[in-house]
Amino acid sequence: MKAAVLEKAGKLEINDLEMPVCGDDEILVKIKVCNIGKMDIRCATLGQRDLVYPRVLGREIAGIITQKGKEAVGYQVGQRVHVHPKIVCGKCEYCKERSDNLCDQVQIMGFNLDGGFQEFLRIPSEGVKGKILNVIDNDDLNFGEISFIEPLACCVNIQDSLKLKPSSVMVIIGGGRMGVLNLLVAKASGIKKVLLIEKNEERRKSGLELGFDEVFGEKQEDIIEQIKAVTKDQGADVVIPCCPGPNALNLAMKILRKKGQLGYFSGVINEEGVQPDINLIHYKEISVIGTYGSSRAHSRKAKALLESGKINVKPLISHYVSLDDLALGMEYVKNCDGYSTIVKI
Ligand SMILES: [Zn+2]
Repeated sequence: MKAAVLEKAGKLEINDLEMPVCGDDEILVKIKVCNIGKMDIRCATLGQRDLVYPRVLGREIAGIITQKGKEAVGYQVGQRVHVHPKIVCGKCEYCKERSDNLCDQVQIMGFNLDGGFQEFLRIPSEGVKGKILNVIDNDDLNFGEISFIEPLACCVNIQDSLKLKPSSVMVIIGGGRMGVLNLLVAKASGIKKVLLIEKNEERRKSGLELGFDEVFGEKQEDIIEQIKAVTKDQGADVVIPCCPGPNALNLAMKILRKKGQLGYFSGVINEEGVQPDINLIHYKEISVIGTYGSSRAHSRKAKALLESGKINVKPLISHYVSLDDLALGMEYVKNCDGYSTIVKI
C-alpha cells in the first residue's frame, strides 16, 4: 500500500509499504482523508524530540472499516469512522478520571505510531477496546468534514476547561484554522461576543464572514484601547491565543480584564528577546488554563457538534490534494493558503 513516510526531518517519501494484517481482535480502516495539521509540518521539516523514524505522519483521520477480526466487538465493516489518534493505557489516574489525553502511556498516531498519510490503518486491540473509532451516524457529513473532529476536539477541551458564560467577551488572537474552529465552538455554546485579532487583512475580512463579531488589526497599542472600548473599559473576559508566537501571549495578558482567563491550548515557539510580562498574572489575578490535545470524550463531543449541524466546517475546506502531493499540501498550509488542506487517499 502507498504511504508517505518521513525517513528523517526534511525527507518525506512516497513508499510502498506492506499491507497491514488484521488480527482477531483488531480492525482495519481504509483511510479516505487525512487533514494536514501544523504539527505534521513541524515534524516533517524540523523533526521532534520524541519522533521515531521512519514514521507516517497525520493525525486528523477519517475512513471506513474494511476488515474486522472475529473478536473485535462493537464495530461493523462498512462503518464510516473518525479515528481518535491516541491509544491509552486505560489504567492510570488520568485515564480513570477521563483525562486520557494525559495518559502516562499515551501513544499518538503520526508520532509514536504511524498515522493517516497512508492507505490503510490497523487499529490494535487496545484501540478497539478503548473505542478510539467514532462511528459517524450522519450520512450527510463527507470525509473531509469528519476529519475536523480532531482539531475541533482540541478546541472543545480548552473551552470546556474555561469558565464561560454567554455574556463572556472572548478574544481570539490569530484567525487561521484553529482560531476559526474556536470561534465555531464558542458560538455553538452560546457565547455572544467573539472578537478576532489578526494581522492579515484577508483573514480579518473572511473572519467577519465566518462569524466573528468584530475584527482588529495588529498594532498593539491601538488594540488595547480598542478592546477596552468594546468592553466598557474592562478588557476581555477570555483570551485564547491561536498562533505560536510569544507576542500573542504578551498581548493576551494586556487585553484581559482583571480576573480574566487565558486559555492556553497550543505551544508557543520561543523567539529570542520576547519575554511575556507574567507579573500581569499576579496583578490582574489572571487564571491561566492549559490544555493538551483532546480526550476520547472531547472527540465524541466534537463529533456530536458536527453531526447536529451546530458547527459547519465546510467553509474551512480550501484544498484537497492527493497523497503524492502531500508536500505541496504542506506548502499550502505553511503559507496560510486558505484555511485547511486535506489529503484524499
Ligand atoms: Zn492511562
